[in-house]
Amino acid sequence: MPWVDKTKCIGCEICVNECPVGAIFMIEDKAEINMEKCIRCGKCHEVCPQDGVRHDSERIPFEVEENIKKTKELMKFFKTKLEKEAFLGRMTRHFNKQIKVAEKTISQINKLETKDG
Ligand code: SF4
Ligand code: SF4
Repeated sequence: MPWVDKTKCIGCEICVNECPVGAIFMIEDKAEINMEKCIRCGKCHEVCPQDGVRHDSERIPFEVEENIKKTKELMKFFKTKLEKEAFLGRMTRHFNKQIKVAEKTISQINKLETKDG
């Protein structure tokens, strides 16, 4: 899913004008994508003169960092080693569930038909 690297965006609004569903808007001269509206057409990647619309995979390190930060914050609520271990087990199960959801979703996506029309 596309996202805008604000450090690269110069506010030219080309992507805003090219987006077929009006999913891109400006906040303080920087483009922002409304993912609820985005149909994942990839047009904004193609037209940005600054290479400012980035691919989702580039966010993986940041998202991992966020998950670890959140886990550390929540772990403060548990006092004993036992409680902390149980908490980390629950977090692990939570992310394992996300892996399973993604794997099963991908498997079903790969079975979808792609006829014209
Ligand atoms: S096309 Fe690129 S530089 Fe221009 S507003 Fe969109 S993201 Fe920013
Ligand atoms: S991927 Fe397509 S629909 Fe989504 S924001 Fe970019 S141009 Fe708009």
